[in-house]
Amino acid sequence: MSKSKSSETVKVVVRCRPMNEKERAANYERVVSVDVKLGQVSVRNPKTSSHELPKVFTFDSVYDWSSKQVDLYDETFRPLVDSVLQGFNGTIFAYGQTGTGKTYTMEGVRNDPERRGVIPNSFEHIFTHISRSQNQQYLVRASYLEIYQEEIRDLLSKDQSRRLDLKERPDTGVYVKDLSSFVTKSVREIEHVMNLGNQNRSVGATNMNEHSSRSHAIFVITIECSELGVDGENHIRVGKLNLVDLAGSERQTKTGAQGERLKEATKINLSLSALGNVISALVDCRNTHIPYRDSKLTRLLQDSLGGNARTVMVANIGPASYNVEETLTTLRYSNRAKNIKNKPRINEDPKDALLRQFQEEIARLKEQLEKRSGRKKKKRQRRRVGESGEEFVEDGEEEDDEDEEDEDKSGADYWKEQQEKLEKERRAIMEDRSLVAEDKQRLLKEKEKKMDDMRKEKDASELLAAKVKAMESKLLVGGKNIVDHTNEQQRILDLKRQEIAEQKRREREMQQQVECQDEETLELKETYSSLQQEVDIKTKKLKKLFAKLQAVKSEIQDIQDAHIKERQELGQTQNELTRELKLKTLIMENFIPLEEKTKTENRAFFDEEDDTWKLRPITRIEDDQRMMTRPVSAVGYRRPLSQHARLAMMMQADIRYRAENIMMLELDMPIRTTKEYEGPVIAPKVAAALEDALRDEDEIQVDAGGLHSSLGLSPTGPKSGRPKTGKKSSTPTSAHSPSGSGHPLYPQSRGLVPK
Ligand code: ADP
Ligand code: MG
Repeated sequence: MSKSKSSETVKVVVRCRPMNEKERAANYERVVSVDVKLGQVSVRNPKTSSHELPKVFTFDSVYDWSSKQVDLYDETFRPLVDSVLQGFNGTIFAYGQTGTGKTYTMEGVRNDPERRGVIPNSFEHIFTHISRSQNQQYLVRASYLEIYQEEIRDLLSKDQSRRLDLKERPDTGVYVKDLSSFVTKSVREIEHVMNLGNQNRSVGATNMNEHSSRSHAIFVITIECSELGVDGENHIRVGKLNLVDLAGSERQTKTGAQGERLKEATKINLSLSALGNVISALVDCRNTHIPYRDSKLTRLLQDSLGGNARTVMVANIGPASYNVEETLTTLRYSNRAKNIKNKPRINEDPKDALLRQFQEEIARLKEQLEKRSGRKKKKRQRRRVGESGEEFVEDGEEEDDEDEEDEDKSGADYWKEQQEKLEKERRAIMEDRSLVAEDKQRLLKEKEKKMDDMRKEKDASELLAAKVKAMESKLLVGGKNIVDHTNEQQRILDLKRQEIAEQKRREREMQQQVECQDEETLELKETYSSLQQEVDIKTKKLKKLFAKLQAVKSEIQDIQDAHIKERQELGQTQNELTRELKLKTLIMENFIPLEEKTKTENRAFFDEEDDTWKLRPITRIEDDQRMMTRPVSAVGYRRPLSQHARLAMMMQADIRYRAENIMMLELDMPIRTTKEYEGPVIAPKVAAALEDALRDEDEIQVDAGGLHSSLGLSPTGPKSGRPKTGKKSSTPTSAHSPSGSGHPLYPQSRGLVPK
């Protein structure tokens, strides 16, 4: 690919999938025919009259049902990925009705090398390219996101409930804030990232098929490459590859939907119709406003549509007759996209290159490590000075006989040696009986501290070294980090395949050109020998042109029909929305107080970033703070005072200005003149009678007549033959208690107070 900075058009290819089992079983007719050589697809509409000619569309290349994944890759996608490796931005869109092979084209069958899609094939391509590179450093990272109902979800983040925002920076353009990206070092690693995202994609979707047909999935690979330029400086190029599996292009029905359902349907369509509008606006030269901001998808992929990127759009279609409407819509949609002009350029030395940050960080860490080892060396030198005769006292430091060659010893050896030495010294102190216990303790402590310090330093150094190593391992260098498994023959084969693909492409282009020129030049060359011949030839030509005219006319009719349909649908949506708006207005006018309404209106503002209306918080922070600080006049006083009052207070003891000298006293509580309520006191007699009357029947015992007389007991005794109830030893007895003798069968009262 050339490194030209001139504009180039979006490349559009069409792929028709084979009939599936169901279609074959139902004996559906095939209405799509594909001319691979000419790059033409023709569709016959079975519903219209039979004499109508099939609709023909010409594209950059077309693939029929027998096309292989690898053919598509070599002819169409490989050049694009190659240019991403050179530092261009690249985008691949898969567009089409659900079930026509978008996901098959992008991902394919994961574990089958024959049926792998563009994404896995590009992994292989990228890492093979890096492994074969020379004098270049690469950093590859991957992100994966999904747009569903105008909400962005990071498919690689742990928290799948979070929604991300789009932000814009003047230098780098639109980006997804907080989108995670993983640095990958091999095909296996990046495949793992893709699988992880795919798993997350299905999480939370009740019906995976339905979900994937309503959401857009974008896999992003960023490739940074650093190379020494002719100026002796390192230059970094950054290429970004967006692999987009769009939502199904079939219209989501909005008819009859209301409220949430309507909103959902409207939102699902939004990104795709916005994409269509952007495409239309881009190809219409009169248009100056491109509605990128209408949807998240178009905003995020702004560069891929008319900007700094190379773009390939794959339009996927099905061959069966019942899909003919959708097939035609897809072909028209992509036919328009052919005319979009992009302005790709190599992204050289962008400010936010991660590779540059990595390189700088590695350099910094290395320098730190260097410093550490420098200190180590110095230490040793210091010791050597001591050795050479000077007085050099360091607690129990033993003489060591290191020589120059010791410098070369590896760090690990050095640390080990140091540790052993300290251990030996420690033991020596322990065994040294000449030392006083206290001294010994102190020395031991010091040694221990030293050992600890040393260990810490060692750990720190090791950590640093590990960090440097880890970071360096992320930067890929050809022939070292990745082993190229393919041999030379394979490489040559690859090259040949590429050449063949290129050849095919050129052939097709030439064929298309020949077709075009044929008609124009026919007339110029021809001389007629007779009038009759002229008439014949001209009639033939007329027929040909007439057929063409008819085709164009029917195309116009079709497009008009499509527009009418779309307008009707838009009208319907508008009606629904108007109705909802009317309802809300009605509620507002009848149930919301006017002042509340004004307040809310004042608080409302339009957030450009989010494209939505929002409400300001009720209390603004500035107000709060003003409330919190005391007025200047009140500083130091209990209440605001005027300058005059303060002066007057100082000058004279005028009561008027004594506000500050008021004493604070407790409240004087009045003396109480009322009493607490006490319940009425019942006379003991009445109480006893009451108790008796309220007692249960079976508790009453009947005294045998004259018993008490024989016993000679007074009926007022505490144990009056009722041991069950005789709990209280001093039960009051009723004065009126009938004496036992008088009423022998009358139940005796329990414990009456003796009179
Ligand atoms: P989409 O993503 O557009 O909804 P899929 O990629 O899921 O459609 O394809 C639907 C079915 O058709 C899948 O089972 C897939 O394997 C099959 N299919 C699509 N395209 C092809 C093709 N070119 N060759 C063979 N099978 C295909
Ligand atoms: Mg799909």
